[in-house]
Amino acid sequence: MTDVTAMTATQIAGLVATGAASAVEVTQAHLDRIAAVDGRVNAFLHVDTDGALAAARDIDARRAAGEELGPLAGVPVAVKDVLTTKGVPTTVGSKILEGWRPPYDSTIVERLRAAGTVMLGKTNMDEFAMGSSTEYSAYGPSRNPWDTDRIPGGSGGGSAAALAAYEAPLAIGSDTGGSIRQPGAVTGTVGAKPTYGGTSRYGLVAFSSSLDTPGPCARTVLDAALLHAAIGGHDPRDSTSIPAPVPDVVAAAKLGATGDLSGVRLGIVTEFGGEGAEPGVTAAFNEAVDTLTKLGAEIVEISCPHFRYALPAYYLIAPSECSSNLARFDGVRFGLRTGDDGNRSLEEVMSLTREAGFGPEVKRRIMLGTYALSSGYYDAYYGQAQKVRTLITRDFTAAFERVDALISPTTPFVAFPLGARTSDPYQMYLADLFTIPSNLYGGPGISVPCGLSDGLPVGLQVMAPTLADDRMYRVAAALESAVGTFTPPAL
Ligand code: GLN
Repeated sequence: MTDVTAMTATQIAGLVATGAASAVEVTQAHLDRIAAVDGRVNAFLHVDTDGALAAARDIDARRAAGEELGPLAGVPVAVKDVLTTKGVPTTVGSKILEGWRPPYDSTIVERLRAAGTVMLGKTNMDEFAMGSSTEYSAYGPSRNPWDTDRIPGGSGGGSAAALAAYEAPLAIGSDTGGSIRQPGAVTGTVGAKPTYGGTSRYGLVAFSSSLDTPGPCARTVLDAALLHAAIGGHDPRDSTSIPAPVPDVVAAAKLGATGDLSGVRLGIVTEFGGEGAEPGVTAAFNEAVDTLTKLGAEIVEISCPHFRYALPAYYLIAPSECSSNLARFDGVRFGLRTGDDGNRSLEEVMSLTREAGFGPEVKRRIMLGTYALSSGYYDAYYGQAQKVRTLITRDFTAAFERVDALISPTTPFVAFPLGARTSDPYQMYLADLFTIPSNLYGGPGISVPCGLSDGLPVGLQVMAPTLADDRMYRVAAALESAVGTFTPPAL
């Protein structure tokens, strides 16, 4: 049998379904790969060896008993450490939750188990999903398998690095401003942010509740679609979950793979043009646009005049929501407690715990958000940002009257060297220039590899209307059918 770690999730599921490989063999091969390379990649914060093998044995037993298993049964998956996992450490990349073992599974993890996937472990991330490089993780950065001196993106860099390093064929991320798509772009993998509310936030440790969206990461568009179908759909335990079925993303990916985009209209956002994508990214994107045209798509230029205010609006809304959400980390209920020597007041213990438990970026956001929400400044900052959010939504709505989907480079630049942007927060924030608008709007977005720039991967983003996630899969799969997938040099 050829190396299963090099296979797609679809291929692995096929092997397990026919009995050509057992789920235990598949799982063990991935655990061996993690043991061999993760010292250099640091994609995982926790590898759940025993849990993974037990889950795999269960799948094998059920298959042997003749049970009908789903399309991803026996496929290993790596889960971003932002999602709660019953009895398995969940840190959110923060010291403040070190050692916390949640008493319950998030809905996403519950559905992964129900689909018969095998959870390998929890992946590294920027603390509380704030960042674009994993350098803000309290547990050291993950490294990009394409060049281990470079960042794998963030905040879900661990999940993307695990895919690119062939440690897992599937992974879960969460996207508040780009944390699924940007890591996908810089590691040459596929990352999809579903429509907000299309995937459940129950058990997703909150950063910015009106933006946070869990979603699938994979090495192919079809694999991402299969994972999306497995985790998506209504969840009564999340009040913002949409009571509608998941669009048929798997059929859309299969349709796209035929390479025919005739009748599909794609918009290129004028305002993203002049702005700041580096030349190699622009060149790869332009080449992909030519490819999409050859596949039959009609390309239209569309102005979305308010997109230029998306980044500043996001950096008021997301910190505001975070300052409220992170108030719960008080040294009383979860994880770390510092200075509780019997002589200190509750307030002092809370303050010492938060001082010791949160890293500098998280503190910066809490302070920014608290300031933006304070009386006297609320209207000028938070209120104004919400108005901008409405204008951005209107730009999307107007654009989708003319085109089926919008396309752009996913990121302005390829994977940068570790340390290159940590001293200037604004430089780090720019990584999400092109991904943030669709979070503010709530529509789906996907990043699919479209080429290389100086030997490093470039992603193309497809943004679709809310609840039309299938459209972006069709376009992404068509592009993939033409340009192929991208494999990093051997680690
Ligand atoms: N990089 C952005 C931030 O730091 C987005 C993060 C995310 O999507 N979780 O907020």
